[in-house]
Order: sequence, then C-alpha cells, then structure tokens
Amino acid sequence: MGFLEGKKILITGVASNRSIAWGCAEAMHRQGAEIALTYQNDKLKSRVEEMAHKCGSDIVLPLDVAQDADIEALFKSLGERWDGLDGIVHSIAFAPREQLEGDYVDAVTREGFNTAHEISSYSFAALAKAGRGMMEGRNGALVTMSYLGAVRAVPNYNVMGIAKASLEANVRYLAASLGPKGTRVNAVSAGPIRTLAAAGISDFRDMLKKVEERTPLRRNVTIEEVGNAAAFLCSDLASGITGDILYVDTGYNILGLG
Ligand code: NAD
Repeated sequence: MGFLEGKKILITGVASNRSIAWGCAEAMHRQGAEIALTYQNDKLKSRVEEMAHKCGSDIVLPLDVAQDADIEALFKSLGERWDGLDGIVHSIAFAPREQLEGDYVDAVTREGFNTAHEISSYSFAALAKAGRGMMEGRNGALVTMSYLGAVRAVPNYNVMGIAKASLEANVRYLAASLGPKGTRVNAVSAGPIRTLAAAGISDFRDMLKKVEERTPLRRNVTIEEVGNAAAFLCSDLASGITGDILYVDTGYNILGLG
C-alpha cells in the first residue's frame, strides 16, 4: 500500500512529460493517490488528458492562473467530482523571455516584474485561497516549486529569482494562515532540470553542466526525485513539516563559491 492511499491531489503545471508536475503526478499515483490535472490552454488539453489516463484519472480541468474565473471554476468542477481535497501541487511559473537573459538591472521592466510575480507567486496564494474550503479538516498539504535563485543571485535568472523569493515568503505566510485548519504548506527547491520553462532561461545548458561538475552527487536531479519529495510532503509522513523549503538539488545549495 502506498503512503498516499486514499488521498485526492490536484496537480497543476503539466505541459510535457518533462514537466516537474508530471514527475509529481507519477510519484503520487505510484503511492496510491487519486490525481486531477490542469492544463493551461487548449493546445495542451489532449496531451494532458492522455497523461492523466496514464495515472488512471479522467479529471482534467482548464486553468490559466491569470484568470480569476478559471480559478473559481476549477474548484467548483473539482467539488462536483470529489467530496474534499488532500493536496495541491503548484508547479507554475512564467516571466517574459527577455527578462531571463543578461544583466538584471538592464533586463527588468515594470511589466516583466509584475507578470513574473503574478503568475509565479500570487497564483500560489490564489489557489490556496480558492481551495482551502475543500481542504479544511483533512490534514491536507500544498506544495510549490522554487529554485535557488530565490536566495542567491543566479546569472540570467533575474526577476524570476525575486518572484521565487516572494513565492518562498508566500509559503511561510500561507503556512501560518492555514496551519490552524490543519493544512500544511511547503516548497521543494529543485535543482535545474531541462523542461519547457527552463528552455526560456539564457545559457541554461551551461547551468546544468556547471551543477553536474560541482554538486556533491556530481549529477543533476530528475523529475522523479522531485516528484518523490513532493509526494512525501503531501503525505502524512510529513505531518510535522510546514512552512519549509526542502532542497532537492543533489546538494548544490550547500556549496560555497571559493
Ligand atoms: P514546465 O514548462 O514543464 O512547467 C511550467 C508550467 O507552468 C507549464 O505547465 C505551464 O503551462 C504553466 N503555466 C505557465 N503560465 C501559466 C498560467 N498563466 N496559468 C497556468 N499555468 C501556467 O517547466 P517546469 O520546469 O516543470 O516548471 C514547473 C515549476 O518548477 C516552475 O515553478 C519552475 O519555476 C519550477 N522549477 C523549475 C526548475 C527547472 O530547472 N526546470 C528548477 C526549479 C524550479
């Protein structure tokens, strides 16, 4: 029996079979969870439906986090299928491509800054707010995906690092807010992984190579490993953990630059 047996978990952010969200869906399915997936737009719908089938699920719902109506409709539809919700995985981020290259001060604009924060950080609070009713009293958990750029100045990551710092603060404020109702809130800070979102970061290949050369485990992390950690955080095995950032990065974050 898996450690998520009987749990109902909503997973956002599947765009391809390389998505971190897909690593989460597969890991959680392996551990016995029932899964619902979301897709950002019609182009992704049939692909995400096929992937949901692989996890034994036919609950596939639209979600553009820039639209309040989508967020409201998501939980309404979910409420028609499930009598409650035990977990939400938030695996969504976006910044315009031109924000993710070159010098931070040169690249940053008001619009780029606002978009990155709205899609990558506010959306986590918005999902928590809209989903909390379905999660109340079930010892549920929310998990989001962060990156080292939240706490270090990483070349080219630029405004996304500031949005991730906001996301990590969001984890702490949401944990304090939802804890009294029994809901936990955590983040996984993943090492770099080749995904569609990562392709938008300038010199990403170089980043993967540098990590592989220097990190304690001498390799990059996989979506399976990130998925397993997210599954743990959503499970009762992690019942004492909230407001935390769990690094799943083959140890890279512990290194000094000397
Ligand atoms: P991905 O491209 O597979 O996933 C990003 C997802 O965000 C996509 O499914 C996309 O549809 C969704 N998205 C973007 N804008 C949206 C919107 N307006 N509404 C709804 N969904 C929207 O890439 P990924 O690397 O799996 O990214 C998932 C998360 O992991 C992101 O938060 C990313 O910052 C984080 N992360 C990635 C890495 C990495 O190196 N790949 C490392 C650490 C953290």
